[in-house]
Amino acid sequence: MRKRELDFFRKLLNRRLEELLMEAERTKDQVKEIDEPVADPMEFASNGFDRDFLLRLRDRERKLMVKIKEALERIENGTFGICEECGEKISQKRLRARPMTTLCIDCKHEQEAAEERQKYEGPRESSTLWARM
Ligand SMILES: [Zn+2]
Repeated sequence: MRKRELDFFRKLLNRRLEELLMEAERTKDQVKEIDEPVADPMEFASNGFDRDFLLRLRDRERKLMVKIKEALERIENGTFGICEECGEKISQKRLRARPMTTLCIDCKHEQEAAEERQKYEGPRESSTLWARM
């Protein structure tokens, strides 16, 4: 990939990372607020739900940040834009839409199909979630 293209993706990823860091700060504040003791048990219950939601959100933000950092590393070591599965170039169009991706569209479809198969064969995540609630 050309230097100019790499610069473009570096900027794009850095900007996304900054946005995420700001969002993460906000989520952290919200979790702190919810952790304040409350007298009303009804309110407490609903806070517990919000807290779960926020913690999950924070977890997702963290994972996304890791992915962005990994993509930035790939830009530095020259493997950015190369499919880690088949070694082919990932299309510019796909990279612009998903700069954190490590798979070309073919390998991605392959992976999704495999996940889909696993979902039907493996444990049903959604039903266990309902059972807990
Ligand atoms: Zn591939």
